[in-house]
Amino acid sequence: MSRPAPDDADARRAVAPVIAYPDETLASPDLALYRAARATAERIAEVTVPPREARCFRVGAGQFFRITSVEGPQVGDLNLWNAADLSERFYSGKTRALHGTHLGIGDRMWSAFPHLRPLATIVEDTLDWYGTDDFGGRVHDVIGTRCDPYTHALLSGGDAYHHCCHSNLTRALAEEVGMPPAEAEGHVHDVLNVFMCTGFTRDTGQYFMKASPVRPGDHLEFFAEIDLLGALSACPGGDCSAEHSSDAAACFPLLVEVFAPAEGALEGWQPPERNPYDRSHGL
Ligand SMILES: [Zn+2]
Repeated sequence: MSRPAPDDADARRAVAPVIAYPDETLASPDLALYRAARATAERIAEVTVPPREARCFRVGAGQFFRITSVEGPQVGDLNLWNAADLSERFYSGKTRALHGTHLGIGDRMWSAFPHLRPLATIVEDTLDWYGTDDFGGRVHDVIGTRCDPYTHALLSGGDAYHHCCHSNLTRALAEEVGMPPAEAEGHVHDVLNVFMCTGFTRDTGQYFMKASPVRPGDHLEFFAEIDLLGALSACPGGDCSAEHSSDAAACFPLLVEVFAPAEGALEGWQPPERNPYDRSHGL
C-alpha cells in the first residue's frame, strides 16, 4: 500500500528536472578530422565472432573498428580495455550519466576511475535513423549489464547455462591474455549493448528489450582513442526478441574489422591524457 499523497504532491511532481551532468563543457571529438582520416584508412584485420561465443580483437590508438551484423539480426555485448592495463576498462555507468541511456555518433565510451578518459568514440551508426520508438526503445544501450549465468541461476532456480555473454567474454579474454578463467572473469565488465533495442517500461520502470531493428550490413563504427583490447560476444539472445540465456533464440555471427588510416592523416591529434584529478581526496 502506498502512503496518501501530501497536499502539495502535484506541485512537487511538477518541478522541472535538471541535467545531472551538463555536457557543454565536455570537449567534443573532432569528428571532421576522424572522418577525413577514415577516408584514407585500409582494413588491416578482421575477426568473426561465432554465435553464442565471444572473440577478442586489438585496435591501435588512432585506428578504427567496425562491428557489422552479418547473416541475420544479432546483438553484441562489447567490453573494452586499455591494451596495456586491464584495470582501465569501460565504465558503462559513468558513460550513461554523461551521454544518456543509449549511445550514438559523437558519444564516447569512457574508462573507469581513476582514468576517466575516452577509450573510443562512435563515428558511424547505420541505425541512427531509429531514434526513440513508441515504447521508449532506443538502440545501443549502456543500461543492461550483460547476460550472465548468475542472474540466470537466480531466476531459473539454479539452472546452469554456459554461453551467456559474461561467460563468453570470460573465456575469450582468458584465451587472449593467457589468464586462468577465474582471474579473467574479474576483468569482464558491464557492456555496451551493440544493436540491442531497449528501454524502461513506463508503468513499472522495468528494463525491457525487443527485437533489434539491425539487419545484415548494419554497422557501428568506433575511433580508438588509446591502444585497445576489445572483446565482443554474439549474445545467445540473438536479436533479443524473446529471451536470452538459453539456446532458444536464432543466433548469427558478428564481424569485427579494424582499419588503419594513412600516415599523417591524424596530424595534430594526440591520445587523451588520463583524468587530471590528483587522487589526494582531500587528505
Ligand atoms: Zn548476452
